[in-house]
Amino acid sequence: MDLAFAPELEAFRTEAAEWLENQLAGPFKALRGLNNHVDLIDERREWEQVLGSARWSCIGYPKEYGGRDASVGEQVIFAEEYARARAPARIGHIGVELAGPTLLAFGTEEQKRRFLPDIASGQTIWCQGYSEPNAGSDLANVRTKARLEGDAYRIDGHKIWTSMGAIADWCFVLCRTQPDSAGPKGLSFLLVSMRQPGITVRPIRQMTGESEFCEVFFDGARALVTDRIRAEGDGWKVAMGLLGFERGISTLAQQMQFRNELTEIIRIARESGKARDPLLRQRLADAHIGLKIMRYNALRMLSGGNSGQLSAPAYTYKLYWSLWHRRLGELAMDVLGPRGEVGLDAERFGPLTHLFLMSRADTIYAGTNQIQRNIIAERALGLPREPRGK
Ligand SMILES: Cc1cc2nc3c(=O)[nH]c(=O)nc-3n(C[C@H](O)[C@H](O)[C@H](O)COP(=O)(O)OP(=O)(O)OC[C@H]3O[C@@H](n4cnc5c(N)ncnc54)[C@H](O)[C@@H]3O)c2cc1C
Repeated sequence: MDLAFAPELEAFRTEAAEWLENQLAGPFKALRGLNNHVDLIDERREWEQVLGSARWSCIGYPKEYGGRDASVGEQVIFAEEYARARAPARIGHIGVELAGPTLLAFGTEEQKRRFLPDIASGQTIWCQGYSEPNAGSDLANVRTKARLEGDAYRIDGHKIWTSMGAIADWCFVLCRTQPDSAGPKGLSFLLVSMRQPGITVRPIRQMTGESEFCEVFFDGARALVTDRIRAEGDGWKVAMGLLGFERGISTLAQQMQFRNELTEIIRIARESGKARDPLLRQRLADAHIGLKIMRYNALRMLSGGNSGQLSAPAYTYKLYWSLWHRRLGELAMDVLGPRGEVGLDAERFGPLTHLFLMSRADTIYAGTNQIQRNIIAERALGLPREPRGK
């Protein structure tokens, strides 16, 4: 199978690689290799804005909203080069990869003009207000309420596990606008400014010592009625549409990041002599094979054409990569040996220990593995649906 890119795409690759190298060898040197979402936040906001002003932030968006109308091939290439350059994890990812595509798919023209240019130029950071203490896998159990008062909704409730909540400017909130409703009916999808009274953010400390996510309390916060996506009560449809975008082009950048991690683990295994251990060698080879399979599967998924819709390979993808990555974290610890248990300094873990700890979350967020298996059973295999309350 020939997976080479056409010459004009390779020219695009060179342009992207040179731009990234200039920035990351120059003014943004300190950001190189940063794979968390918590360090050097001011510099990372600036990085989002520099990406935006050079139109590298949201290249797949239409030009009129700050993108480049880039083809899927160009987006794949940029994602690969971004990871190859060890550019920092994007703190704008929820806006860029989730809010933006959702606005493009479901927003009115006015909403697109109001929000997309600020996302594409890196001016706004977004967070996702879905999960609540009793609405995770059972997302339709959302209890956060929004009541219309004049030209705005008044929002009261409690979201949890909100990644980037502490630094976000905007949040998309799934909430109940029909008071006596239950399940997916009666929900609406509102865009809510995080910079207003009535919102309290409480960081949650993770086992890495970082607080990438937080609880968000809404106590009379407001969202303009014009900032509701689609009709009142149509929130579930929008919320589910958004989840389809979680398996977009960024999966390839993610794989390049995985490749960087595996390369580092192999380097350490070689240097420490662990590469001669027959069992570790098997696991390293397995990790390499798994990564190759993931890449071909992702290309198959993306060549389906409709990046917003889940295709058959997309159903299995989340389950596959999350298990692979969690195993990679375990492999890293076995290769590191006792070194893996010691932080770089008194407070911070080394990158591979960080990988081990963070990868435990991969099988939980964006749908737990049990939920992914339910989805595969029901939607891909056509098995009977599991019983649901309402
Ligand atoms: C690092 C991280 C970042 C996150 N970021 C965000 C964010 O930005 N915004 C946001 O809204 N949420 C976020 N989440 C929350 C995430 O979406 C939820 O944790 C996830 O949906 C699971 O929900 P829960 O934690 O309530 O677990 P529960 O739904 O209570 O599940 C508990 C266990 O029961 C199993 N289970 C539940 N229902 C079923 C079933 N029907 N069949 C079989 N097994 C079942 C689950 O698989 C799991 O093992 C994040 C989570 C993590 C870990």
